[in-house]
Order: sequence, then C-alpha cells, then structure tokens
Amino acid sequence: MKPAAPAGPSKSAATAKPAKAAATAKPAKAAAPAKPAKKSAAPAKPAKPESRLAMVRRARRINRELAEVYPYAHPELDFRNPFELLVATVLSAQTTDLRVNQTTPALFAKYPTPEDLAAAVPEEVEELIRPTGFFRAKTKSIMGLATALRDDFGGEVPGRLEDLVKLPGVGRKTAFVVLGNAFGVPGITVDTHFMRLARRWRWTESDDPVKIEAEVAAIFPKSEWTMLSHRVIFHGRRICHARKPACGACPITHLCPSYGEGETDPEKARKLLKYEMGGLPGQRLNPPPGYPGRPAPPLGGSA
Ligand code: SF4
Repeated sequence: MKPAAPAGPSKSAATAKPAKAAATAKPAKAAAPAKPAKKSAAPAKPAKPESRLAMVRRARRINRELAEVYPYAHPELDFRNPFELLVATVLSAQTTDLRVNQTTPALFAKYPTPEDLAAAVPEEVEELIRPTGFFRAKTKSIMGLATALRDDFGGEVPGRLEDLVKLPGVGRKTAFVVLGNAFGVPGITVDTHFMRLARRWRWTESDDPVKIEAEVAAIFPKSEWTMLSHRVIFHGRRICHARKPACGACPITHLCPSYGEGETDPEKARKLLKYEMGGLPGQRLNPPPGYPGRPAPPLGGSA
C-alpha cells in the first residue's frame, strides 16, 4: 500500500537534488541549493488524517533523504575521548557548540584528565569556561563530575546510562550523547532542535523529551537512533530553524506537513541557510574527514 500523500508540495517543487550535491562537491557553492522549491508551490492538504503506517513510512523516508543530504552528519562538539565529550556536552547547555569548541582547547590543555580537573582551583576553571555562560554553575558541574569519575569510576567515564545520569550536571540527553558517540551505544538525543522537528514532521504531539524519545524510538530501528539524531539536529541548525525555517530551500518539502511555516521564497530562504549550507564555517574547529565546509575559527578569530 502506498503511504498517504504527505502535506508538502509536489515532488517537483522539492529541492532534494541540490542538497545531495552539497554533500559531495565544494562546500560553499554546493551547499546552496540550486533548484529550490518554486515560490508558488502550495502544500497539498491531506484528504484524510495520515495513518500510523503512513507516518512511519514518511518518517523513515525523511531519515533516508536526510542521510543523503548530510552524509557527513556528526556530533558538533570537538572531543578526543569520552571525558572531553562529557565535559563539552555539559558546557554546551544554553550556548552553541561553536562557543564550547572555542573554549575547550585551553581547558583540556590545562586539565587533560578527571584527576586534573577535580584538583583544579575553581576560580581558574571559571575563568577558562567563562565564554560558555553560566560559568560558576558549570564549573561546579564539571569539577563535580570529574571528582565523581576520579573517586567512583577509577578516573574513567562509565559506559552505562544509569551511571552517567548520576554524575553532576548529566541528564539523559548528555548521557545519550556520550553513549552514542563515545561508546557506540544507540541513543536518541532529544534536544531543542529534535523536539521542534519531530513535532513539525508529526512524529509526535508531545513536548516532553522523554515521551518524544520513546515515540521516536518506536518509529525507527535501534541501529538508526544515533545517526538519526545527528541528521535531525543538523537539519534543525541549518535549514529548519526555530523562528524562520528556510522552507523554500529545504530538500524534504515533499515529506513535510509543516511546509510553509517558514520562508517559501527560494531566494529569501537561501539567505537563511547556516553553516556549510550557507557557505559559512561550521561549528567544529576540528571537523571530521568528509565535512564539506570550512572549520570554525578559534576564539576571537575570524572566519
Ligand atoms: S524547513 Fe522545516 S518546516 Fe520547512 S519544509 Fe523543511 S522541514 Fe518542513
């Protein structure tokens, strides 16, 4: 059975091709979709409510198409080991990954291990992480978790959810980031981008991260969870923004029931694209191989 027609514009109006090109060719040029949705493309209203089966098929197709758009999707925090990823993830609360990446090189140069950080002078740590905001609370968290790692886990980051969430400043979201990216354990990272897009795509109606995680987990096989999270977050950061999604430059309009929530004019939408999609630097100072954009500049540097 064919899935019910989604509420997006017709496939001819979609922009899958340009975004595929973005993944393989020169970053700045390729990242800007060349054939965005037509200005006049109006989303078709579904004749009847979408069935659960149709929604699941559409969701899985979104995941497959995002995999083609962002074959280089990855965690956008720079890290060299689980300890660095854990600390960087805690620091990323209420700020951008870019700002964290610009801050952590000096922090990890001075305190490369949990033992070093646990024994630090708090005021010195505060100064180093000040650019990430909330630096007093974050200093308490990262020194607290470094102390717990030293005293309770032999100086190693544990690879189990139940241990990670007991560490100061570590919730399920942080724990899943660490498990998925440092230990290869499948996990869904429900951050602000993931929540917004899951609702726009009608994968959920909830705004509770734990419920969203469970509902999305029921749609996708476990093996997809970690990469699905990266792809959705990449799309949220680059194209499907909170206040003004760039619908007119989006490669999955034909699968999106919320097409038209943002800017549909192709030219105007293209100007809203961020990072490599907009020909701009990314968030990582050390992006992984295959990333088609430019690395982020160091703190105080220009792109
Ligand atoms: S930008 Fe977001 S809301 Fe707009 S069509 Fe794309 S996925 Fe849907």
